Amino acid sequence: MSTQPVITRFAPSPTGFLHIGGARTALFNWLFARANGGKFLLRIEDTDKARSTPEATEAIFEGMRWLGLDWDGEAVSQASRAERHAEVANEMLAKGAAYKCFSTQDEIAAFREAAKAEGRSTVFQSPWRDAEPSTHPDAPFVIRVKAPRDGETRVADAVQGDVSWKNETLDDLIILRSDGSPTYMLAVVVDDHDMGVTHVIRGDDHLTNAARQVLIFDAMGWERPTFAHIPLIHGPDGAKFSKRHGAPGVESYRDMGYPAAAMRNYLARLSWSHGDEEFFTTEQAIEWFSLDAISKGAARFDFKKLDNL
Ligand code: GLU
Repeated sequence: MSTQPVITRFAPSPTGFLHIGGARTALFNWLFARANGGKFLLRIEDTDKARSTPEATEAIFEGMRWLGLDWDGEAVSQASRAERHAEVANEMLAKGAAYKCFSTQDEIAAFREAAKAEGRSTVFQSPWRDAEPSTHPDAPFVIRVKAPRDGETRVADAVQGDVSWKNETLDDLIILRSDGSPTYMLAVVVDDHDMGVTHVIRGDDHLTNAARQVLIFDAMGWERPTFAHIPLIHGPDGAKFSKRHGAPGVESYRDMGYPAAAMRNYLARLSWSHGDEEFFTTEQAIEWFSLDAISKGAARFDFKKLDNL
């Protein structure tokens, strides 16, 4: 077992308020870090410039402050690290773990259409994967990871158990776009590595991303973090919890007069439990929190229960 100090992170995209699902992800990361005497970092994933706003970043800070989820050090802006991301993409290129792909959108679409018509897999196979650099045209290119074609990619997840994907279903993912900007997959891996993150606790909508991200960790010879993909939150009707359920940002609950401690208590119990305990202090939650007590099943958010706290 690794003796590294625990480092977790919360990595929201600043595209709106801090919603209930995000707040619970932040809380679990915070609890796990505090339970293990580790660090809890905050990274604002603001690479999507069209959708990220400073107001949303502020709303996230505010929601976290209200919930008492203090982070260690300064919040990191992912966008400010784009040069470092590109540097790693080029390192992967130099190692032969990635390649320049000059295929155009039209060529990729034609590949897929032909594959479909012939009943073959539509996973794009770039003709540039093994091309000699001397044959490279002077044209725009993206950098793709040379993903393994045979066998399986496995991720040992602390909540979901051992998960595997057939490599033939995974394409050679793009890590650097033709304008030189990093993709989400690359940025997350480089940042998690550079920030020393040991545990990635996040929503299970990111589980398939883990399959792609471990390829980058492995290709760089970096130790993989422990992944813990937590189940999504559903509304009282069983459907994925969303604005449709009248799900406002966490700060609205503050404005409605809910105490932060009640909200923390309630959020902690969405997919995590400790015996029959319904009410506990934050100190108790820190003492009791463990990843193996998180269930795989979706949690239900029910306003009525929140009212009872
Ligand atoms: N920025 C992503 C999101 O807000 C999270 C990425 C991650 O935790 O790896 O969903």
